[in-house]
Amino acid sequence: MQDRLYIDGEWVRPEKGGTMDVIDPATEEVIHKAPAGTSGDIDTAVKAARYAFDSGPWPRLTGTERAVYLRAIATKITEKREFLAKLEVADNGKPLPEALWDIDDVAGCFNFYAGLAEELDHHPEETIPLSEPRFSSRVVREPLGVVGAITPWNYPLLMVSWKVAPALAAGCTMVLKPSELTPLTALELGVIAQEVGLPAGVLNIVTGTGLQAGEPLTEHPLVDKLAFTGSVATGRKVMMAGAQDIKNVSLELGGKSPFVIFADSDIEKAVEWIMFGIFWNQGQVCSATSRVLVEAGIYDAIVSRLCEEAAKIRIGNGMEDGTLLGPIVSKGQHDKITAAIDRARIDGATVAYGGGRPAGLDNGYFLEPTVLTGMSEDSYIWKEEIFGPVVCVKPFKDEDDAIRMANDSRFGLAAAVMSKDVIRAERVAEAFRAGIVWVNCSQPTFVEAPWGGYKQSGIGRELGRWGLSNYLETKQITRFNSDEPWGWYIKG
Ligand code: NAD
Repeated sequence: MQDRLYIDGEWVRPEKGGTMDVIDPATEEVIHKAPAGTSGDIDTAVKAARYAFDSGPWPRLTGTERAVYLRAIATKITEKREFLAKLEVADNGKPLPEALWDIDDVAGCFNFYAGLAEELDHHPEETIPLSEPRFSSRVVREPLGVVGAITPWNYPLLMVSWKVAPALAAGCTMVLKPSELTPLTALELGVIAQEVGLPAGVLNIVTGTGLQAGEPLTEHPLVDKLAFTGSVATGRKVMMAGAQDIKNVSLELGGKSPFVIFADSDIEKAVEWIMFGIFWNQGQVCSATSRVLVEAGIYDAIVSRLCEEAAKIRIGNGMEDGTLLGPIVSKGQHDKITAAIDRARIDGATVAYGGGRPAGLDNGYFLEPTVLTGMSEDSYIWKEEIFGPVVCVKPFKDEDDAIRMANDSRFGLAAAVMSKDVIRAERVAEAFRAGIVWVNCSQPTFVEAPWGGYKQSGIGRELGRWGLSNYLETKQITRFNSDEPWGWYIKG
């Protein structure tokens, strides 16, 4: 485990020598002291990234040349798959099979953007037809510059890869500030960058808290773009800091995503997808379908099967065989979720299942999968992101009612619908005000497809070719091809 920051191709001690405790949420033990960078370290890292962009080889390489590095990173990630996945379990708490899946997706993300970097060479420019025949115009896409990337703790290395892979593919350089709760695998990416010979300064990794390292990164005048994933509250601060220098800002924020289940659905399949939509990764998923809307005719059956199946979920240390629900990432998050459940009870909701600490697990930030019913549409639990294994279930009477309730949110990240009637399902999918919609499932995510939210769930899209565009500038080069004088001031 790394105890230094990765800046300008070197491992360096934080300027102020600070450390942060890394806690295993399953045992509550301190497993590492990670380096705590501050504004001085951020300044050094940004200057290294600036120099690497302005004077180094990286933005001037062809896409195919950059792709060689991205593929080498993917290969190293695959070689270190077990090691990285186990670090992720110790740091975040998620069950090992989920962590292995994440690491495979990380490698897949670097390979995917290697392919798009190569494509940049094949479609370097576009000719634009103009209404004026004496002019011609072409459009070129160029790397945007120095990126300040800030990531959350729920998919520690995966969220990092969604920014680092497309930014490097585009030819940008970067300072990455991962979550202070889960810094371990991001630092290992520095080791990999060094092993594959990534030029110095292209990727700099400064771990530290949001206030001491994140904020100075958002305020640094030499940063061209801020790429942020995290909560709405922090996203707002990032956007305000970026406004000072009119930085390009992309935001991937929170959600309170609905899952509409029509009465013609198969109950077993519906229950399975509801569970995957809210208990996977302990419900700490930005797109988690935490508001389940069930057509009145099957509401009772769904709630009762959901509670039966929730009771069977094996809860424990993510390293133990068969664990399907690990601990919540931190004591702070655990306290926030249990407070939200208590508030829901006070506001009149019924805890149909769970709601507390699982029996026999006295240590670690464990929480039962929790099913809530009977909450009002204006209650906190129905409206706000809880970011834990807590699902709210409500009945609806018809399609219009379901769409109204689904869209009645300040968030618009994801939504899901289940029905055997494909035409209806597609109609509802189009009616959702959300950037990601699943039909007859919830959560499967593919690197090829755009990811991001409507409304307060964010600005911009990650993944797919949209993710690459995030890190490219668009330039028009327009030429006057005629020998005739222009003749505005000087008449010929
Ligand atoms: P958070 O906003 O608390 O922290 C995110 C990052 O911002 C961390 O690295 C943190 O250190 C940093 N930060 C905190 N204050 C800062 C400041 N003032 N200036 C700059 N940086 C600062 O979020 P979190 O608790 O780590 O993550 C959970 C949130 O992330 C949830 O709301 C979830 O929905 C969201 N999320 C969204 C997506 C998506 O793709 N839309 C994906 C994953 C998580």
